[in-house]
Amino acid sequence: QWIYLDGQYVTKEEAKVSVYDHGFLYGDGIFEGIRIYEGNIFKCHEHLVRLYDSAKSIMLNIPLTMEEMEEVLCETIRRNELKDGYIRLIVSRGAGNLGLDPLRCPQASVIVIVEQLAIYPEEAYLNGLRTISVSQRRNIPDALNPKIKSLNYLNNILVKIQANHADVGEAIMLNAQGYVAEGSSDNIFIVKNGVVFTPPCYLGALEGITRNTIIELCEELGYKLKEEPFTLHDVYVADEVFFTGTAAEVIAVREVDGRVIGTGQAGPITLSLLKRFREVVTQNGKK
Ligand code: PMP
Repeated sequence: QWIYLDGQYVTKEEAKVSVYDHGFLYGDGIFEGIRIYEGNIFKCHEHLVRLYDSAKSIMLNIPLTMEEMEEVLCETIRRNELKDGYIRLIVSRGAGNLGLDPLRCPQASVIVIVEQLAIYPEEAYLNGLRTISVSQRRNIPDALNPKIKSLNYLNNILVKIQANHADVGEAIMLNAQGYVAEGSSDNIFIVKNGVVFTPPCYLGALEGITRNTIIELCEELGYKLKEEPFTLHDVYVADEVFFTGTAAEVIAVREVDGRVIGTGQAGPITLSLLKRFREVVTQNGKK
């Protein structure tokens, strides 16, 4: 396995960063998770735009142009001879001193790891996941703005810990006002009376690339889509619930906090979106 680390391709064992890296010391950095389907990088441009926007927002100077970054992604995939997999692209503030000050970090560090992906078993896509809502609240505005895909994932990790405790794969996070925001690393959708709903990102959700693709596919398939605030009550009484994300793709939910959703299996709209999504991702990764 070859890992890109600051201009060099090194083995997994050689891929080490400094203990003074502010990504490690303070979570000062950003990342992207990207899929490779049949040798193509899915929505590469969209992921890079989100990365460079996150960088600009936190005043992090990425030492590569977007074109150079794309070339690095392609070369890392080539060297690992992967046709299908997952790319983790990390840009950290780089090594500095123990103080917070990013001015002491002269050079951002860029890391690209590509791997095979361990996702949910196929059975879960048909039968749906059990999930719970958690007490963690999605952080909004300022530094923990969900629009910035930063290395500060402690909140999401606390959600994951609660999910583990309840023995479920993903969990639902509300925002401080009690509106449904997203999962620990997935966006959420519900379906009621044939209409598909997803929370507007301003409520505290990352603007997921998969989410945006599903919004496009709803239009293509003729489903009415509304970006509207909703509460846990609406989730409990929904006909269908599903999560979307780069790793999870489109995964149905069959139970939320002990309430059975719809028929207790993946619903028809969820399954048709999943089917179309899988067609789209394998068509040159282009949509
Ligand atoms: N929300 C959070 C908090 C995430 O980390 C992710 C995964 N990157 C998502 C949603 C889904 O976004 P995407 O579809 O771009 O993977």
